Amino acid sequence: MMTQYLALKAEAGDCMLFYRMGDFFELFFDDAKQAAQILDIALTSRGEHLGVPIPMCGVPVHSAEGYLARLIKAGCRVAIAEQIESPEQAKTRGGSKALVARDIVRFVTAGTLTEEALLEPRRANLLVALCAVRGQIGIAACDISTGRMELEECSADRVGAALARLGASEVVAPEDWTDAPLDAIARPARDFASDKGEAGLKEIHGVGTLDGFGLFTRAMLAAAGGLVAYLHHVGRGKLPLLLPPVARAREAHLAMDEATRASLEILVASGGTRRGSLVEAVDRCVTGAGARQLADDLSAPLTDRKGIEERLALVAWLHDDALLRGDLRAVLRGLPDLGRALGRIVAGRGSPRDLGQLRDGLSEARRIHDHLAKTADRPDLLEALLPYLTGHGALTDLYARALVPSPPTERGQGGYIAEGYDAALDELRRISGDARRAIAALEAKYRDQTGIAALKVRHNGVLGYFIEVPAGRADALMAPDSGFTHRQTMAGAVRFNALALHEEASRIAEAGGHALAAEESHFEDLVARAVAARHAIAATAQALARIDVAAGQAERAAEGGWCRPAIVDEAVLDIEGGRHPVVEAALAAGGRGGGDRFVANDCHLIPQDRLWLVGGPNMGGKSTFLRQNALIVLLAQAGGFVPAARATVGLVDRLFSRVGASDNLARGRSTFMVEMVETAAILAQASERSFVILDEVGRGTSTYDGLALAWAVVEAVHGSNRCRCLFATHYHELTRLAQSCEALSLHHVRAREWKGELVLLHEVADGPADRSYGLAVAKLAGVPAPVVARARAVLDRLEKTRAESGGLAAGLGDLPLFAAAMEHQEEVVDALRERLFALDIDALTPREAIDLLYELKREAQSLS
Ligand code: ADP
Repeated sequence: MMTQYLALKAEAGDCMLFYRMGDFFELFFDDAKQAAQILDIALTSRGEHLGVPIPMCGVPVHSAEGYLARLIKAGCRVAIAEQIESPEQAKTRGGSKALVARDIVRFVTAGTLTEEALLEPRRANLLVALCAVRGQIGIAACDISTGRMELEECSADRVGAALARLGASEVVAPEDWTDAPLDAIARPARDFASDKGEAGLKEIHGVGTLDGFGLFTRAMLAAAGGLVAYLHHVGRGKLPLLLPPVARAREAHLAMDEATRASLEILVASGGTRRGSLVEAVDRCVTGAGARQLADDLSAPLTDRKGIEERLALVAWLHDDALLRGDLRAVLRGLPDLGRALGRIVAGRGSPRDLGQLRDGLSEARRIHDHLAKTADRPDLLEALLPYLTGHGALTDLYARALVPSPPTERGQGGYIAEGYDAALDELRRISGDARRAIAALEAKYRDQTGIAALKVRHNGVLGYFIEVPAGRADALMAPDSGFTHRQTMAGAVRFNALALHEEASRIAEAGGHALAAEESHFEDLVARAVAARHAIAATAQALARIDVAAGQAERAAEGGWCRPAIVDEAVLDIEGGRHPVVEAALAAGGRGGGDRFVANDCHLIPQDRLWLVGGPNMGGKSTFLRQNALIVLLAQAGGFVPAARATVGLVDRLFSRVGASDNLARGRSTFMVEMVETAAILAQASERSFVILDEVGRGTSTYDGLALAWAVVEAVHGSNRCRCLFATHYHELTRLAQSCEALSLHHVRAREWKGELVLLHEVADGPADRSYGLAVAKLAGVPAPVVARARAVLDRLEKTRAESGGLAAGLGDLPLFAAAMEHQEEVVDALRERLFALDIDALTPREAIDLLYELKREAQSLS
């Protein structure tokens, strides 16, 4: 057995091996140690290997799913080795000592799950394949629980942003790729070939060309090749549901890098959970599929006005009709997860219950269609979605006839095919029903015959049907001519068989076997029909999800008094009475006596006044203000209402959010370096169409460097990037920038000292902050009074010295804008000149000469 085990283990590679032995999956060696620890189950041992006891642990097959879920969560991957023949087959094949043949039937990995119990209903579960082709990175992402597949391409420096957006459960990459993400699973490099990828997709979708699906680059196809090969591998040749690939165009979505996503806490809050995230504060979807679609919308908001307006129009329509919205949501709430049921069915892991879910989901879709089709003035998006909700009449009728009302999750016992669907099956059931009744009658007859009132006819898995009498009364049945044959003697009872009972039992067994086989073949037929209709079913599921998202957004807006944003092309951001949805909800839920009220704030950015410097005390609400405006942009471009009284959002191409390093300690790599790398990315990428929020940038270092950097960053954002920007800072000195930057204006969060106490008003007002409230904040935070008093004395002294020397930023206001940048340019010009003088032209080969020319040109271009 160990030989067989070790061979399978070798095949499983770095996956844990679940080795099926009867009713258990057993694990051995290090697998056993690791699993026992993660699952908190007993570690035992079995036999010896090379003179040492073999560690072992096991989990019952019937409850294996729960254990698998925990192992997958803990980051393990598991290979399942099943018995692929029965013990009887093994004996006929190889004699009494033959080992039952086993094989790995499937790999269970985080990115390739389909089981309801292992998946989170409100989260997509993505598997991502990455590879580099000629400097471009191809990304193939797929949610095999629903079959959705997306291909994209990006430059190497954008991979982090793309992965942050996708939030994959599992990533695979070629083994020879040195720049692969650290947690990627290494796969054979030959799998990541564009011709293989293309051929694979064509075969899966039965098409001669992929042109009908979109335009795919070589890098995209190579990544798709790696993805499909991996799916083949984990499914042992059986592929899951894969819908036609969609090419994701980079410009089609609001670009946000990893740091921005983390700081805006879109799908996960800083604590790593959904609690406290944007999606949690927004999500009012009543279906898992809707919640997944919403998460997708929020992680990839749109940049085209038409797409955004279409979504907004549907939300507005549902917002205005509360009655319709209520009815619709009530029906949606009862929907099964169609997409995932279909995913299991196509992957060959479907159950009768999954078929029942298709039946119910598709007929409910039809009902929703009929209901919506009666309404007037339907928005375009709804008009486009409606046709996808119908067209499954033949399938649902068939399923309605074929299946019982609530089919079971297990097929083993049968009983899921409805009465009246198949006359032969009904007949088989009648036979076993008759036989069961006959057996009940036999019990009465045997009681009469023997005079033993306690006699029972019973059934178990080992003996089948038998007669049981108390031990004390067994003698009469033991007699050779009694008509009963002895089967088993127990502690208090003795068990017998009888000819008539045996005959009836055989009838049940035979009819039952035939009935099971008949149900099984119906099941296969019903599955095949779902597989054939998979694209149409998936489209229905997607349409329902989209409707649920819109209804949920409308509900959220109605609940919170949110408004429909106006979307315009000009680079403006004009918000009245804006709120931060997460902070507002936290305040409402948290405080005593109904909680604190959120103070709404305005924000008016226009090209002539596009950079707001926001000052004021710590805890005054600067971060909250910055983020709420970024979130309003994000929500608006995702096609939803926004938490404001009125909002005009000029389309944004890239959104950046940065938090100064000291605010960032929780991320565990709080270095000034990180802060600067992230800031550098903004300066390199932000365009006039971008929106940037910078929160206390520059405070990760000593006062002078920090101030100098913050100063330079503001100048660059204002003069070069020319994007819309909110910049929060506690450097009072920066207010001087208002003199040199014409599109910059000063604002502050208001605070007031009242009877010696600091009152934070959380109100954003025009003009610079009149003073720093650091000491008052310290007092508010509970710093002991003597310490605050001492600090006040020190501060007075410092301020005096500073006033005498003209202040920390004295003279900075006279610095020419971009002096530093001009210095850099001169350096580059000098270097170029020196290189040209030193050049020995005759010593160059033509090839070197042309390379050099290119290089010089590149350097010269960097000047402009
Ligand atoms: P800062 O960035 O100025 O240090 P924060 O934005 O972090 O301040 O806000 C500190 C706290 O003040 C928040 O956690 C929140 O509880 C409260 N707060 C912020 N803005 C508001 C507001 N507009 N209305 C009510 N409370 C607010």
